[in-house]
Amino acid sequence: MRKNIVAGNWKMNNDLAQTESLLTDLKKQTQTSIAEVMIAPAFTNLYPAFQALKSTNIEVIAQNMHFAENGAYTGEVSGSMLKSVGIETVILGHSERREYFNETDEILAKKVDAALAKGMRVVFCFGEVLEDRKSNNQEKIVENQIKNALFHLGPAAFQNIILAYEPVWAIGTGETASPEQAQDMHAFIRKTLATKYGADIAEEVSILYGGSVKPANAEEIFSKPDVDGGLIGGASLNADDFFAIVNAF
Ligand code: PEP
Repeated sequence: MRKNIVAGNWKMNNDLAQTESLLTDLKKQTQTSIAEVMIAPAFTNLYPAFQALKSTNIEVIAQNMHFAENGAYTGEVSGSMLKSVGIETVILGHSERREYFNETDEILAKKVDAALAKGMRVVFCFGEVLEDRKSNNQEKIVENQIKNALFHLGPAAFQNIILAYEPVWAIGTGETASPEQAQDMHAFIRKTLATKYGADIAEEVSILYGGSVKPANAEEIFSKPDVDGGLIGGASLNADDFFAIVNAF
């Protein structure tokens, strides 16, 4: 059965002292749901976070990685480097990476391959911008993002892929897709997977929703049958809010 997952994307927030303080707050929380919990601090704080949380069931994951193993890529971090500090899962394709760092589907396909080759799990993000939604093109856009970056993979790879549908117009804006909009898109994503890989694989892949998920709206969004969890930005920076979302299952 596919897993429920709540992942916190801290983005470029929290220096070391702030990270330690949030980790301390997270360790005080009580989990009452069965969701898998992940947090993604900045690169500089991955190792301290991994050390601090290794006796808990909160997994520390990375926000990005490069596709090369090593070499002349100033400023970049490889999958091997992540693994060497205990990181086994990486977010790829976040809309901010696509928008501000020019990450194309082709680059993301290479990153996905590199992460899977290292035996890592990938939280693969995609989603339409507001114009696409207004022109009712969201399904075509999402289908292409998934096909271009993932459909060269064999079926077994999907054991290590978590999908995160994040409509760009709902990220950090306070505007959330309605639970029905989220469900419709998640069902479409599952249908797209089923067409290529068969219903059994499509049923096993966790599909997270991201975009202004808060304690007040998490339960309704997570109650939808094809929504298997959330990728949480702003609300993951506060331990009480984040765990209210984790416990909304
Ligand atoms: C995100 O950045 O993945 C995100 C969903 O952010 P927020 O929850 O702040 O909208």
